[in-house]
Amino acid sequence: MIFDNYSFETFKEQSVDLIVDLVNTRNPIEDMDAITTIDGLAQFLSEHPATNDGSMGGLGRPSASDLKAVRRLRSELREVFHAADEDEAARLVNAILTNAGAVPRIAFFEKTPHLYFETDSKRLARRLAAIAGVGLVEVLVDGGVDRLGTCCSEVCVDVFVDTSKNKSRRHCSTTCSNRQNVAAHRERSRAKKKS
Ligand SMILES: [Zn+2]
Repeated sequence: MIFDNYSFETFKEQSVDLIVDLVNTRNPIEDMDAITTIDGLAQFLSEHPATNDGSMGGLGRPSASDLKAVRRLRSELREVFHAADEDEAARLVNAILTNAGAVPRIAFFEKTPHLYFETDSKRLARRLAAIAGVGLVEVLVDGGVDRLGTCCSEVCVDVFVDTSKNKSRRHCSTTCSNRQNVAAHRERSRAKKKS
């Protein structure tokens, strides 16, 4: 298989973005969920380069069972972010790849061979899982389980992949880290006034 249009780096980044965005479509704290309907799922897929460039092999419009399966995959992906250690993360990722019927393949990106995953399944969630597998394996093998983070804001449980140099990232976004900074500042001012 030849991916003419982009590099393997891009492919991996798109896979990681897809994983993070898919998990974050659900915010249990605010009871929000962007993919409760087939339309919501179709919209999500159309917004992601990893799934809107034809790589889904013309699966067509998602079905109700696709929706259910993608929501299940989303929970499985979140579990990987909550894994206690490398062993657990590896076990969870291996299960996701096995369930998807994903097999390792060599693909040529800009004439250079790379390992990625593919499934013969016509099921949308399995295709998604195979795409996600590339990003998950990349992060875990190259970066370690510490790279998989969950926002430490009290009002957010969004996940992220920590690409900082010293694995110091604690929030999903600048919105959350700013909010936390403001709260900490207020707390300090209050403590000062009391003393
Ligand atoms: Zn957050």
